[in-house]
Amino acid sequence: MRLISTRNSNYYIDALDAVLKGISDEGGLFVPQEFPHLTDKMLDDFGHSAYAETAAKVLSMFFDIPAGKLLKMAHNAYDGFSSEDTVPLVQLSENEYVIELFHGPTLAFKDMALQMLPQLMSEALSRSEKVNNVMILTATSGDTGKAALEGFKDVLGTKIVVFYPQDGVSDMQKLQMLTQEGSNVLVCAVKGNFDDAQTGVKKLFADADFNKVLADKGVYASSANSINFGRLAPQIVYYIYSYSVLLANGRIKKGEPVNICVPTGNFGNILAAYYAMRMGIPVNKLICASNRNNVLTDFFDSGMYISRREFFKTISPSMDILISSNLERLLFEFLGRNTIKINDIMKNLSEQGAYSLDEKVMEPIRNLFFADYCDELRTKSTIRDIFEKHGYVMDTHTAVAQAVYERYVAGTGDATVTLLASTASPYKFAADVYNSITGEKCENAFDAAQKLSELADMPIPKSITDLREKPILHDLVLNKDELDKAVFKLI
Ligand SMILES: *Cc1c(COP(=O)(O)O)cnc(C)c1O
Repeated sequence: MRLISTRNSNYYIDALDAVLKGISDEGGLFVPQEFPHLTDKMLDDFGHSAYAETAAKVLSMFFDIPAGKLLKMAHNAYDGFSSEDTVPLVQLSENEYVIELFHGPTLAFKDMALQMLPQLMSEALSRSEKVNNVMILTATSGDTGKAALEGFKDVLGTKIVVFYPQDGVSDMQKLQMLTQEGSNVLVCAVKGNFDDAQTGVKKLFADADFNKVLADKGVYASSANSINFGRLAPQIVYYIYSYSVLLANGRIKKGEPVNICVPTGNFGNILAAYYAMRMGIPVNKLICASNRNNVLTDFFDSGMYISRREFFKTISPSMDILISSNLERLLFEFLGRNTIKINDIMKNLSEQGAYSLDEKVMEPIRNLFFADYCDELRTKSTIRDIFEKHGYVMDTHTAVAQAVYERYVAGTGDATVTLLASTASPYKFAADVYNSITGEKCENAFDAAQKLSELADMPIPKSITDLREKPILHDLVLNKDELDKAVFKLI
């Protein structure tokens, strides 16, 4: 299918080419020219199918890849998940179902997309006459880096360098990356914080000399971050799949709307829920949950997006974001797909750190979205309460969504069946989760995982226990203005 750019109404690109390209030349994001439509028959079938089959069917509505090949790619992506259902649906209370999206190799929902994206890139590469090798450059604050490394390791025609802030990721996240195996991967610490790493990578992309050196070797620099359409499309699948499973179980009737509640950072995951709705999943409310970095809550309340504000480091670090890039795709739809208006507001955002929309635009957005946030204390008490009430352990990100959902229900009395996206295994943030439940401190991540396992009587995921034994394979540390050295080392 063809995609268009949010900032240029004359730009068309095939979905598979867009995966290679990442973002449009003028900075716009790629979006479907039209949303494909799910039939009732499809929704019936998906509820009785394996996840990989559903993924192949849904992705075939976007990508022009033969059905058999796409199915093989989906099996490749999801067969290694530790849960037989790939994305188990856990009923927490009468109306609430948790979609567990963290059973992939790196224990965060990023795997749902990053196990698929490299295969889409490979396919695009094999069809491209100009490009035969891709160099993925990614700055990470923790989860994306490891998920991208696992996804791209040993994928033909690709190499990947991940840059992480030397002191800006959790011990478990750092260890996950430094033990990364694969002949085409490199992990590099950057002296500084996440912004330094991110700025360094952005400079590389914009550096003509650097890109020429790569081009002379037939290599094309690309990125694996969440504005790539190849990350968005696989995320639509689990909302459609979960709805179909509820239908098949008789929990909802045909056409019955659900709420979808998502712990949000870059707005990619909740945008995928919106896209699922546009494809035909009946939705009552999309509930956008933020942590103390509540720029989105303020935006939905006031119509003003103000990114120039204090930044807080929280116990849900993957949501510590002040510029939610994927919001641009939502606004594109609610502004009547007007590229001129999008250019205007994005210019205001980059030059003034803010933009505002009038009431006429905000009203329909507010009819669909409920947005709220939750502070650290509330996140912790939610983890404890849910464990005490249901014996269920939530990670620090999912708990933010749970707290916001509870506040939504308290305020509205809404009894609509609700899907809550669970984005990480509690073991990935074991120290904070253990502390939330017991009040006790346990700084060593492995010890915390062990204690959490005993407390909740649930096994530690193998990828965590394995980490203890794995040798450190990466030790490169660079200043933010010399990141090209890492790339040249890998070429
Ligand atoms: C990335 C991430 C999020 C935020 O998802 P977005 O798509 O950026 O909104 C939430 N929770 C976890 C655990 C994550 O890794």
